Amino acid sequence: MTARVIDGKAFAARVRGQVALHVARLQEENGIQPGLAVVLVGEDPASQVYVKNKHASTVEVGMASFEHRLDAGTGEAELLALIDRLNADPKVHGILVQLPLPAHLNSELVINRIDPAKDVDGFHISNVGLLGTGQKSMVPCTPLGCLMMLRDHHGSLSGLNAVVVGRSNIVGKPMAQLLLGDSCTVTIAHSRTKDLAAVCQGADILVAAVGRPEMITGDMVRPGATVIDVGINRIERDGKTKLVGDVHYDSAAAVAGQSRRCRGAWGR
Ligand code: NAP
Repeated sequence: MTARVIDGKAFAARVRGQVALHVARLQEENGIQPGLAVVLVGEDPASQVYVKNKHASTVEVGMASFEHRLDAGTGEAELLALIDRLNADPKVHGILVQLPLPAHLNSELVINRIDPAKDVDGFHISNVGLLGTGQKSMVPCTPLGCLMMLRDHHGSLSGLNAVVVGRSNIVGKPMAQLLLGDSCTVTIAHSRTKDLAAVCQGADILVAAVGRPEMITGDMVRPGATVIDVGINRIERDGKTKLVGDVHYDSAAAVAGQSRRCRGAWGR
């Protein structure tokens, strides 16, 4: 069977087009230009790429983009003071602190300082609680993007068996909450899961968010299953640096009904 590949890049372009229309309407009808502030502390190369891409997408849809690049040695008090200023700034509607922060900074303290109404990453404890109790909240973008693609390509998800491999606060747990919200029967697998292959084989929807290059192979995928590969892993192969997912693409695509790496579309 040839896999039906979900074109995440095309889907993301469509979503950006819809967002641009909303932004234009907000400006015409209410005179509001939504603004996103992104805070980057330090020079982590992957974070620099993510922040650059966020700026480009923000500007592309007509929003204002405010970048705050601080050096790696920035103290907690200085960072918290910046967040306080952004919380109070009426031109800033969303605040995003790029993770990971340098080790001397307490990420939880910093994230929980963001006004929950401006916490566009959905990492503030209030938003985590709202999502966990099925209430309207800010939702982490990576799992939300995966859910939107699944709905788009699958129609109703109700009653489907979903397996999420990975239980991080950023991807795995919110992904599981979102799938539960759409009435999937959800299993969360992690590094202590016994017989991961058997667990994965039970999935109609398999989401891999592990951070281990190509560890989910075709023999772990039920024929016809929908596979979403969240992983972004940098590896050396044939003397070149390559980006690969958590799913072994070729072997999984040979059995999956739909398979797509989220990477390009939803990369942070
Ligand atoms: P993370 O915080 O490191 O969490 C990884 C999870 O995988 C943990 O829950 C861990 O289990 C589990 N795990 C590790 N080894 C395993 C194994 N052998 N079998 C089963 N489970 C195992 O990573 P993350 O932040 O969730 O990110 C996961 C991947 O997604 C990474 O490749 C990351 O780069 C990528 N990512 C992509 C996007 C995007 O927009 N596309 C966004 C964020 C992250 P334990 O909890 O038991 O240790």
